[in-house]
Amino acid sequence: MFDRKDLENLEKFNFNDAYVLSLFLNVSPQDRKKQAYISKFKNLVKTLKEDIQDRCKEDISKIESFLQSERESFKKSVVVYSCIPKDLWIRYDLNLELKDSLVADTTPYTSPLFDLLDSYQKYGVLLVDKRTARFFLVFLGDIEEYGMVMHEDVPGKHKKGGWFALAEKRYERHIDYHVKGHLKDIVDRFDGFLKDKNIRRLIVAGPDETVSELMSILSDEIKLKIIGKVNIEKHASKEEILEKVVPIIEKYEKTKEKETVSELITRSLKNNNAVIGIDDVLKYLRERRVRKLITVKNLIFEGFICQGCGFATTQKVDCCKECGDCVMKSDNLIEKTIEMALEQSAEVEVIKDERDRERLIQYGGIGAFLRF
Ligand SMILES: [Zn+2]
Repeated sequence: MFDRKDLENLEKFNFNDAYVLSLFLNVSPQDRKKQAYISKFKNLVKTLKEDIQDRCKEDISKIESFLQSERESFKKSVVVYSCIPKDLWIRYDLNLELKDSLVADTTPYTSPLFDLLDSYQKYGVLLVDKRTARFFLVFLGDIEEYGMVMHEDVPGKHKKGGWFALAEKRYERHIDYHVKGHLKDIVDRFDGFLKDKNIRRLIVAGPDETVSELMSILSDEIKLKIIGKVNIEKHASKEEILEKVVPIIEKYEKTKEKETVSELITRSLKNNNAVIGIDDVLKYLRERRVRKLITVKNLIFEGFICQGCGFATTQKVDCCKECGDCVMKSDNLIEKTIEMALEQSAEVEVIKDERDRERLIQYGGIGAFLRF
């Protein structure tokens, strides 16, 4: 797993004029049959210009032998950044499919990974019952377990028979007291886990009774992060848990994207701290006023970027309007906007849902919420 910090560090890494290879390759079991993924990699290499192939040949052969020797450890896809002259080698194994690609440039190709970070939130899952609690993190279609809490001193419920009504009541209260203590302890630990992992959305799982008791002691701050509740057996496997929480997550993300796109359109029409359209977005990025950049997948804007000051525009210009320096043609200004947004610590969200994507494209395909 990787997070935003890792990618930001990679973007800041100083390659000077050294070429870094960025590889995104599906290596799922069917791609591994008869080493199909190796031929895919070789074909990607052929798409590079010959002089670049030549410049990067050591990196290319290093990646090829890596693909040969590490196949047993692969998940569904692998991402590699390799730059031998700068002694850089980064590998990520992901449990989802990516578009195969190989890029050789003096900067690493990171936007597919930023897209993933924006498309896939981190979700915490808290699975409780009266004695135990388990913590999970769901991210990029994968689930990891981060710990278990057990409170053995919570007394068990006795059979009903043989107890006088009064004694039973007192006993129930005794149990309640212990369960509350257990839940309070869990909440404290879970809160720490959420902060540590920077998790903003969560799902609470367990028997209805325990979940509602838990809800009664949660802080409002945590309650606001909850996107769903589900009944899951306490010994459930990671895979079973993932299967139950994925539909909740998908439903939540769909609703959220729809709201984001609607808010962006409405507010930009009212000039209420939001703009839509590539040239406006670039303008406000230059003024460092963007709080959150909203764009869609697979959208391309050709344009020009100034070599001197970074000024970018979709208009055809020969020299930079700001500093007069030379401009270079850019195949896709979206990359530039994402780069600029991240430099000023703005959030980036990439809309995935097809309908919301179409709706945003009608209005210009890219927009931003502004700080002021
Ligand atoms: Zn310039």
